[in-house]
Amino acid sequence: MRVLLLEDHRAMREMIADHLKERGFAVDAVSRGEEALAAAAIAPFDAVILDLGLPDMDGMQVLASLRASRTGLPAIILTARDSIDDRLLGLNSGADDYIVKPFNLLELEARLRAVLRRSGSARDPTYCLGGVTFDSVTREAAVFGRSLDLTRREAALLEELMRVPGQVITKDRLEDRLYALEDSGSTNALEAAVSRLRRKLAAAHASAQIETKWGIGYRLVEGEPA
Ligand code: CA
Repeated sequence: MRVLLLEDHRAMREMIADHLKERGFAVDAVSRGEEALAAAAIAPFDAVILDLGLPDMDGMQVLASLRASRTGLPAIILTARDSIDDRLLGLNSGADDYIVKPFNLLELEARLRAVLRRSGSARDPTYCLGGVTFDSVTREAAVFGRSLDLTRREAALLEELMRVPGQVITKDRLEDRLYALEDSGSTNALEAAVSRLRRKLAAAHASAQIETKWGIGYRLVEGEPA
C-alpha cells in the first residue's frame, strides 16, 4: 500500500510517515501542495492524507486537483480546522474521512485502513493461502499457525502477493507499491526481497510459493516448493 502524505509541519509529517512505514506502508511525504500534485502525477497512490493549511495552496484545492485526475482516490483530511462548516466542506468535497488535530496515530492508521477497505484497495484484513496467513493490521505472518519472522519490507511484499493470489503482479507495479520515491535502486532491492521471502516460506514448509514469470513479475501460488 502506497500513501501520499501532505503535511507542512515537519515534526508531524515525520511522525506520521515513520509510523505508517513501521506499519508496512510505502509513504511519500511532502510538505507543499505542488509537490503532492507532482508526486501523484507519476506514482499510483492507494490513498492520500492531507493537511489543509499549507504554505503554497489550500489543501482543499489539492484535493480537488487530485480528484480531477483520479476520481475515487481515497483521501483523509488531517487538520486543525475543527468547525462543523470545515468538516462538512471537507467531506462534501470528496474526502473519505476528516480527522481533527491533535489525533492518535493508531486511530489515523485504523481510519486509513478503513478507507482503503471501502475503496476496494484492501479487502478483509487477513489473507490466507497455502497455509500462509497474513494479518495486514498486526503485520503478523504465520505458516500453519507458526509465526514467520519477516522484515517490514518482506511483510509488505507478502501482503501485495496475497492480495491477489494466483495473479501475476509486474515488477514495476510491485516496486510502485512497495517503494516510495526516495527509495532508489529498487529493482535489485525487490529481487532480493523476493528471494529472501521465498526462502523463508520454503523453510517454514508453506504450501504456497512465489513463482517468477520471467520478464514479467511474480505471483503467489499454492503448491509445495519445487
Ligand atoms: Ca499545516
